[in-house]
Amino acid sequence: MLNHVVVIGGGFSGMVYTAAIAPYCQKITVLDAGVLVFDTPQYRAGVPQDRHQHTLLLKGRQILQQLIPDFEARLDELNVPETDYIDDCLLFTHGGKLPRFPSRVKIRPCLRPTLDWVITQHVIGLENVELRENTRVKVLDIVNATVKGVKVSGAKSETEEIIGADLVLDCSGRQSKMPKWLEECGIAAPKLSKVVPHLGYASCLYQKPPSHSAWKGVEVACHAPDNPRAAGLWEVENNQWLLTLIGTAKNFPGNKPEEFLDFAKQLSTPVIYDAIADLEPISAIRTNRGTDNQWYHYEKMNNLPSGLLVCGDAHCCFNPYYGQGMTIVAITAKLLADNLKKSSATEPLTPQQLDKLRKSYYRKSFRYQWVGWTMATFEDARWPTTEGLKLRWYEKLFFKYLDTVLAVSLENDSVAKRCVEIANMTIGVQHIVHPYLLIQCLKKMIAVTNNENNYGR
Ligand SMILES: Cc1cc2nc3c(=O)[nH]c(=O)nc-3n(C[C@H](O)[C@H](O)[C@H](O)COP(=O)(O)OP(=O)(O)OC[C@H]3O[C@@H](n4cnc5c(N)ncnc54)[C@H](O)[C@@H]3O)c2cc1C
Repeated sequence: MLNHVVVIGGGFSGMVYTAAIAPYCQKITVLDAGVLVFDTPQYRAGVPQDRHQHTLLLKGRQILQQLIPDFEARLDELNVPETDYIDDCLLFTHGGKLPRFPSRVKIRPCLRPTLDWVITQHVIGLENVELRENTRVKVLDIVNATVKGVKVSGAKSETEEIIGADLVLDCSGRQSKMPKWLEECGIAAPKLSKVVPHLGYASCLYQKPPSHSAWKGVEVACHAPDNPRAAGLWEVENNQWLLTLIGTAKNFPGNKPEEFLDFAKQLSTPVIYDAIADLEPISAIRTNRGTDNQWYHYEKMNNLPSGLLVCGDAHCCFNPYYGQGMTIVAITAKLLADNLKKSSATEPLTPQQLDKLRKSYYRKSFRYQWVGWTMATFEDARWPTTEGLKLRWYEKLFFKYLDTVLAVSLENDSVAKRCVEIANMTIGVQHIVHPYLLIQCLKKMIAVTNNENNYGR
């Protein structure tokens, strides 16, 4: 049991970690620099990425179902569709379109504010949680290498106040000031790994034509080194279409209507352009280039002050193209809650127990962050313009294998299903080298070689 936890940031991580650990805390105070409580879902200034496609993978959905009992019911109330990732969608990968057939990979595509609102409504209902909006954390209060709380000020006033805590969770996102705050206290900032894919998003909303029913989502993948344009067009709540265009290797989509349409026209399939070309957007076009892979290695610090845990994007964030961020937050929040559940049921944790909890949490979450990190950064490194990582020859060879898996998935339902399940994190990434897949790939390679030989005759 923890006496008082302070959570810095009431974004996705702040709220999901709060929901997960609330049963094991006397009191939690969530501090956010912006507004948190709204009557209906709203875009938030502190979360500029919320205008863009935010796919919660099936694994993330499953965990939120466990943490928030009325998660699905609230999504239903807000008219969020349920979509079969395989049967309801056109998934274009390099070389073609995946087969469509009914599957268990069902997701709930919605706007990010809707997701945040549903989770926040649950947290508002927790008796031991206090939300303090318009409250910006300025610095940590550290005494004898132990975090005793945080110093805050009102968003519009300079009046400062110290809020005490026996555990501070930093969930303040990509722009977290924790490295600077530690340095101000004489503690060296953690080592930073950074891989820059030079990737940008542009998004806008359309009203779905009433007669449309052919699909609920279209995904078009990019492919190194010659096709830098990707997109997702998803039916979200209230019969709206959210179109997100994604350009990698510095091929950023623009925010002018003609640039946006031109980018859509140059996608490897005309499906998306044909669907929206004659529609009037119902929102402005927004862009975002805050997409670098960034990992502050707090888990490797020996001198991280007691009573501090850095979580979510503040700890490790990924190129969002792979849609892993929120799901890895959900997984790691659940890990922390499971650790707390085991540690001490009623007595407040001692500083030694807190240190043990942190080490155990970082050790267990490392595995998931490492998988997410490797999937995103290795794929990014296939682009010559990516900075921060160069692939070795055997890693390049592995991508040749991956390309073969994708080619096989276009004609084999079982392989397609496994690929989509791996991407949705419901089965482990090790399944990519499952003997069944290896055999199918080998058959494909033999068939291609035979065809080439016959053609040469
Ligand atoms: C363009 C884009 C598209 C994405 N698409 C996907 C996707 O499809 N699927 C997916 O899973 N993930 C996606 N992500 C990643 C996802 O947005 C993040 O993983 C997720 O938002 C992390 O939540 P967070 O709470 O750590 O940070 P955020 O949600 O960014 O929240 C940070 C919060 O901290 C508050 N804050 C900051 N500083 C302070 C301070 N000093 N004091 C008090 N409060 C503070 C802010 O106001 C904000 O509320 C995408 C990201 C981007 C950039």
